[in-house]
Amino acid sequence: MTRRPGRQAPSTRTSISALSISALSLSALLASALTGCAAQGAPVAAPQTPVAAGEASLSASDSDMASTTAGQSASASVAASPSSAAPSTPPPNPLAGKVVVIDPGHNGGNAADPAAVNALVPMGFGQYKACDTTGTEGNDGYSEHAFAFDVSERLEALLSARGVKVIMTRTNDTGVGPCVNVRAAIGNNAHANAAVSVHGDGYDGNGHGFQIIQASSSAGGAGNDTASNQLGQDLHASMLSESGFTPATYIGSDGYEARTDLAGLNLSTVPKILVECGNMRDSGDLSRMESSTGRQRIAQALADGIIAFLAGGK
Ligand SMILES: [Zn+2]
Repeated sequence: MTRRPGRQAPSTRTSISALSISALSLSALLASALTGCAAQGAPVAAPQTPVAAGEASLSASDSDMASTTAGQSASASVAASPSSAAPSTPPPNPLAGKVVVIDPGHNGGNAADPAAVNALVPMGFGQYKACDTTGTEGNDGYSEHAFAFDVSERLEALLSARGVKVIMTRTNDTGVGPCVNVRAAIGNNAHANAAVSVHGDGYDGNGHGFQIIQASSSAGGAGNDTASNQLGQDLHASMLSESGFTPATYIGSDGYEARTDLAGLNLSTVPKILVECGNMRDSGDLSRMESSTGRQRIAQALADGIIAFLAGGK
């Protein structure tokens, strides 16, 4: 909102200062001015534009017409208010221009195309592995690929709302791939500030909790590994405090793990972490992963961890 009809009437202001204001006349004036608020764009606006422009730098909040109107009856106190000098331009968004790649694990069509999924692709350091896998599922059949895609879409929305440019490695849950080496290349080609793969684990033993997984050594070198480690710490902190999941009780160390066999991490030249959000074979973890509330909490935790990392200037 840029105009406040309630402030556009110098004749009203003059008449107020000339009056001895009784309770009756004040309420009548307020009623009149409030009617003017509702009638934004009424003919009175046009001849008073120069006055309105002149007052722009002195105006109070545009959103509070009623208080502005009341303030007029008290004349100059409104113009002297500290808030009246507030600039109209918001501060720059530190997240603007940041690029984040979100990588939902697996895909809904992988199981139906074993030839494509089993094709060998580079996994880094001269080795090869399968393009992808079908992923795991809960004991009731709830699939990891569906979970990962849903959380990733929620995460995309949260980051986009903050001004981050988000690139998804897949945009539906019915296709095949992309292969893990391509998922890494998407982040590399985008020169992403951060990349996060979203998965759920399928451990059949007794155990639950999230894992923050980093490559033991990435194609980006030691500097990139240090940055990935920081991203992992930021994600660990937010997952621990916000997601409702504990660090994994059955693998790694306090929810952290370094691996050499994950192509999507090995081949990355940008800071990248794979998050196993929970163990889908554990009934407690699965119930949270299957609920929309639980998935939203995970997405919010991931978003906050990524934003913390981006705010650190990495
Ligand atoms: Zn997975």
